[in-house]
Amino acid sequence: MQIKKIEALPLRYPEPNDHNNLRHIMLVRVETDNGLVGWGEAITMWPEASRAAKIIVEDGMRPILLGRDPRDTYAIWLAMKEQSWWYGYGGIASFAVSALDIAMWDLKGQSLGVPLHQLFGGKLTPRLRACISTHPSKSSIDDMADELAQYARQGFTAIKCGFGKKGSANLGYDQERDIAFVKAVRAACGPKVDFMVDYGHPVRMEVNQAIRVAHAYEEVGIRWLEDPLRTWDWEGYARLRAAVKTQVCTGEDLWTPGDYHRLIKSGIVDIVMIDPGRAEGITGYWKVQEMTTHENRYINAHAWSSAIITAASIHLTAATPNHIVMEMKPYRNPMQHELVKEPFEPHDGYIDVPDKPGLGVEVDEAVVRKYAFE
Ligand SMILES: [Mg+2]
Repeated sequence: MQIKKIEALPLRYPEPNDHNNLRHIMLVRVETDNGLVGWGEAITMWPEASRAAKIIVEDGMRPILLGRDPRDTYAIWLAMKEQSWWYGYGGIASFAVSALDIAMWDLKGQSLGVPLHQLFGGKLTPRLRACISTHPSKSSIDDMADELAQYARQGFTAIKCGFGKKGSANLGYDQERDIAFVKAVRAACGPKVDFMVDYGHPVRMEVNQAIRVAHAYEEVGIRWLEDPLRTWDWEGYARLRAAVKTQVCTGEDLWTPGDYHRLIKSGIVDIVMIDPGRAEGITGYWKVQEMTTHENRYINAHAWSSAIITAASIHLTAATPNHIVMEMKPYRNPMQHELVKEPFEPHDGYIDVPDKPGLGVEVDEAVVRKYAFE
């Protein structure tokens, strides 16, 4: 089997889960000489990053991959790293590596007739505990708590709220109000629901502030505190982790297995957040997964874009003993519900692990064309 054709496809779509903000991703479509088609995704987020990743895929990677056997996933991953070493110890090149690596694994699974999770030792569970991963956008704390309580009534046992997001929620800007919000949600959702607080880029704190807030949240009870400090404030994270009992989660904006190695070795993180559409694909993710196992940390997929990343994340999470939940966006949205023929839908708070070959998703190419941009 040989790779015959590679296309990079930047997409732009409105995201109802992000106040209808326009978001961007870059898909890759890889076709083989025996008629298989594999899909991969990079969570590029902005148009310029999508276009730049497309150039790296088509001008840098395509010439070295055409004619190769896509089942040689590690050899291909290394060849892509070698191609991009001068500009690619993280950054845009990792987007290109991520999308292509995912497509190779999709093709490997399809050609062998097995689901991706079997290529990593098999699923440890037939279904994963779903976490409603939401950006609240209403202005009133009570209204937001009421909305989240509906998910608890539907059977969800984990809810994560992003602070510092679009809309009228204004979470993350006033610490007393944030604490009142967390109390209201805990009261509305009941004790059986794990609640996670996730600080977005605009609202990350200084460490003393973060310690004060974390102590207040501890009185109410949260499952984890995500990205309360700026990405490279590892000294701050060391102080925070020593000062609080709540588990600290970070890592979603790192790029390479080497970055994660340093993060985990630094001893500042309990739950390692990682996106296969950014951290060099399924190969990159699995390397990090093995590090977290050896170091007794948890790993959590940052899957908040298309059903391609969701599929990759579900397979990898299911093959991983040290996971907690699988994150799902609550509202219907184009990249989950239009892009693939059978969207992932949680039932009673759980999400089934697919057993079809490869990623197990069938991409609708008309939808790819609908959202494509140049
Ligand atoms: Mg996050």
